[in-house]
Amino acid sequence: MGYCMGVRRAVEATEQALLDSPVRPVYTYGPLIHNPQALERLGRSGVVIIGNGYAPLPPDFGGATVIIRAHGIPPAEQAELEKRNAVLVDATCPRVLSSQKRARLWHEKGYTVYLAGDRDHGEITGIEGYAPGCIVLENRGDAEKLSSFPEHAVLISQTTIKQSEYDSIAGFLAEKVRDLVVLNTICPATLERQKALESMAEHVDGIIVIGGKNSANTRRLAATAARLCAFSWHIETPDEIPPEAYALQRVGITAGASTPDEIINAVEQALQKGYSCTEIRQ
Ligand code: SF4
Repeated sequence: MGYCMGVRRAVEATEQALLDSPVRPVYTYGPLIHNPQALERLGRSGVVIIGNGYAPLPPDFGGATVIIRAHGIPPAEQAELEKRNAVLVDATCPRVLSSQKRARLWHEKGYTVYLAGDRDHGEITGIEGYAPGCIVLENRGDAEKLSSFPEHAVLISQTTIKQSEYDSIAGFLAEKVRDLVVLNTICPATLERQKALESMAEHVDGIIVIGGKNSANTRRLAATAARLCAFSWHIETPDEIPPEAYALQRVGITAGASTPDEIINAVEQALQKGYSCTEIRQ
């Protein structure tokens, strides 16, 4: 497990930009991934985060590279970056790109666009820009609060929404909107990681989940591990491996979609080393 396709692409695009761009710094529009160690490493290599809550946009980028992260951005913000002389590297995940395109298409067809997801999430803000006037629904309760409904509408989800939440919103809207198109835009990456963890849990005595404490999908993995296994820990780095882990017969490790390979490998190596030390002591 570890990086999903979209995050891996974005990290590789940034590393490539660091090699190719003669202008420093290389900027990312928002934090590239939810992993403090990876962001720290990129920062040391000359990457600066700009945008909402981070460094302000320079009035003129002077041809510096700006990476658009996997969540994507609204077209108006993209145009603003270009106006300020930035060279854009678009690392929007292909799955998110597809949602953006479909939102625009249905909007142009005259359909009301409902977006199911977290209204403050970058992916939702980005898609909103492709379907002006769209309605964001965080849950079924939001849909139930609506006072009127159109004849024709399309429902698009954030790629990481829970299937059950999405189904519930879709079920409610289907009763209200005569012509409702429900698009399946949920990304399988999160579910794949959950399923892999569930099958691993049957074979181990303890589970270590590696990834940012601020990463929603890693936290969800940690919650599942805690439910399935008597011993489980959520760590960000190898030095957080608890000593009790070495007392177990078999430990499984997994990682969130924004955890870098090198941290996963370092945890694996530290565990293997710790285990061999335990054997020597015995
Ligand atoms: S979770 Fe899925 S949609 Fe989101 S960046 Fe990863 S691959 Fe793309």
